[in-house]
Amino acid sequence: MSSNTGTESPALIMKKKHLVLIGGGHAHMMLLANINKFVAKGIAVTVIQPSEHHYYSGMGAGMLGGTYTADEIRFQTRAMVEKQGGGFILDRAAEIDPAGREVVLEQAGKRIAYDVLSCNAGSQVPDRGLSLPEGGDIFPVKPIEGLARARERIIAAGKSRSLHVVIVGGGPSAMEIAGNLHQLACRENLLPPTITIVAGHAVLPHAPKRVRRLTKGSLEKRGISILTNTRVRQVEPGSLLLDSGESLAADMTFLAVGVRPSPIFSRSGLPVGPDGGLRVNRYLQSVAEDNIFGGGDCIYFEPRPLDKVGVYAVRQNPVLVHNVMAAFADTPLREFHPGGKYLLIYNLGDGYGVLNKWSLVLGGRLAFRIKDYIDRRFMHTFQAGDH
Ligand SMILES: Cc1cc2nc3c(=O)[nH]c(=O)nc-3n(C[C@H](O)[C@H](O)[C@H](O)COP(=O)(O)OP(=O)(O)OC[C@H]3O[C@@H](n4cnc5c(N)ncnc54)[C@H](O)[C@@H]3O)c2cc1C
Repeated sequence: MSSNTGTESPALIMKKKHLVLIGGGHAHMMLLANINKFVAKGIAVTVIQPSEHHYYSGMGAGMLGGTYTADEIRFQTRAMVEKQGGGFILDRAAEIDPAGREVVLEQAGKRIAYDVLSCNAGSQVPDRGLSLPEGGDIFPVKPIEGLARARERIIAAGKSRSLHVVIVGGGPSAMEIAGNLHQLACRENLLPPTITIVAGHAVLPHAPKRVRRLTKGSLEKRGISILTNTRVRQVEPGSLLLDSGESLAADMTFLAVGVRPSPIFSRSGLPVGPDGGLRVNRYLQSVAEDNIFGGGDCIYFEPRPLDKVGVYAVRQNPVLVHNVMAAFADTPLREFHPGGKYLLIYNLGDGYGVLNKWSLVLGGRLAFRIKDYIDRRFMHTFQAGDH
């Protein structure tokens, strides 16, 4: 990039510095909201993302169930970037070339040069060797926009027949999806579906006993079956083969089998953690490249591996803004401190939530209302883009 207009003498040609952001996820909210400050300092900013919107995962299950519309849970990333004088590329980063300081795009292998790069490309649901069939109604719980398509498919098919819907996984997102499928069927007057969770070893294996009991109780009371000590061996069109050898009817299958960081970094030869996430130091900076930063699910925080929850991504925002700015100004970086125990609230559909922090556990409508309030406030704050 150059400010050369064709009339300037070579001595006057100034090369503009370039900040490139891969993904506009939860850890990049404040960077996105501050693009105008970089632009004002003469730094060009480009955001690469495969969608013009970023979906807030905390409200994803609620969108499936119909509590929220898609518009209520997504950020207008492209509009926010362009309004502030940044550039937006609708594409996926395929690789990073750290030596050449370039990001290679997926389509046509185009290259985008950077001076400083910040990565918030999130995570994906791995197939866990399930050799998924082509086509079919199989929905990984990420990306969240896939849940909007699942909702449409279920409404279209569930009016004329009772669907068999299976959720594979025993973690929080499996529980949220199951409860919100029940809500969806009730709200849309669908023929009552059969909803089954194939939870693997156990339901919420890392949660306190009371959280497990409340969650299980709430779902089972609404007729949702939960199979524990059961795994899916193979996904076939219309059914699932279980490790017991039994077959389970499945018109629609949701995969909630955990997440893995974006594969960009291992593909690029950058140092990664055991999960394939970009290995970063306490400044959220690549341990190998001073001018590469990252946050959210796509990093491996070397000082202390972090849970893949949006809470950490959100906490990383101010540090990323500071450090990316400092990388241009050559001023000291700030450390990221993950902080203590975080509040978790599951939205289990039908207005029911389960809340947990420290030893406090609360199940019921109040828990859902607290989550709803926090999530709506988060959306409102960042959609306004005034951070
Ligand atoms: C159903 C569900 C509910 C959840 N609920 C909660 C909750 O209530 N609270 C909580 O703390 N956590 C929750 N989580 C976990 C949470 O989703 C993640 O920790 C969070 O999404 C991480 O944020 P992120 O910005 O790193 O990644 P993401 O949200 O995945 O965002 C990544 C962004 O990068 C873009 N992108 C992806 N690949 C590329 C690429 N190659 N190039 C460019 N851009 C790319 C994507 O389009 C996306 O916009 C939930 C997860 C699920 C699945």
